Amino acid sequence: MWKKMQPAIAVRQLTKNYAEGSAGTLALRGVDLDAHAGELLMLMGPSGSGKTTLLSIMGCILTATSGSVRIAGREVSSLREKDLPAIRLEHIGFVFQGFNLFPTLTAGENVELMLDLKGVRAAAAKKRSRELLDQVGLSEKYASFPADLSGGQKQRVAIARALAGDPGIILADEPTAALDSRTGRNVMEMMSELAHKRGRAVVIVTHDSRVLDFADRIVRIEDGAIAVPKVESVPAEVLVHNMMQQAAGLA
Ligand code: ADP
Ligand code: MG
Repeated sequence: MWKKMQPAIAVRQLTKNYAEGSAGTLALRGVDLDAHAGELLMLMGPSGSGKTTLLSIMGCILTATSGSVRIAGREVSSLREKDLPAIRLEHIGFVFQGFNLFPTLTAGENVELMLDLKGVRAAAAKKRSRELLDQVGLSEKYASFPADLSGGQKQRVAIARALAGDPGIILADEPTAALDSRTGRNVMEMMSELAHKRGRAVVIVTHDSRVLDFADRIVRIEDGAIAVPKVESVPAEVLVHNMMQQAAGLA
């Protein structure tokens, strides 16, 4: 169903060379990928394969060396770095690996900061951040500092912060890596609800095999390239079914 709509994010022939020049690291070598509203897409691959680089470029945190990035139909790869924050604020909620909360701000203030950037006035921001923390089951932690929260709680604050601006696209880098199984599944249930009930495009980088069954589609990345070229044309149910059979040693 989502395949007929314009992708929320479309990247084409994306390359990234860190330390541009002949001696740099070619972290991405020509990636094509679409992320769709209503879909939970998982990006998997070994450490160093380029997952964080790809997600960061999709999230307008990092610029590509070459190739195209379209967000909600708009080409952003030609924009200058100083123009990216506005795009990010409008479209993207990013959940960083390792949470990246501001340690001197409370849970509530971490969320309000994003609303402040969007120009939401203080009183309204406070109300909204309380709602968001309530949504992630943390209403009682509004005034707590990150140091006083568990890993799972910090991750949920990071998710509340990512959702603050009501973005159409949610990108999360290994959101369950530091969590126990149950908390990890809770986080994935939230992500799944965002995709399936609220129509967001959700892209999750993971190599946590415990959460694969939440994926509508899994794309593998190896050595800076998509590993299975035809993955886009395989129906999600088929792909997930095949993957599960493989995982169970049946195929
Ligand atoms: P993954 O998230 O899959 O572990 P990354 O995207 O972090 O992979 O890294 C891909 C490649 O790019 C690796 O070889 C890594 O060492 C390199 N790399 C990542 N970030 C930087 C950076 N800021 N400067 C130079 N090289 C980097
Ligand atoms: Mg990474």
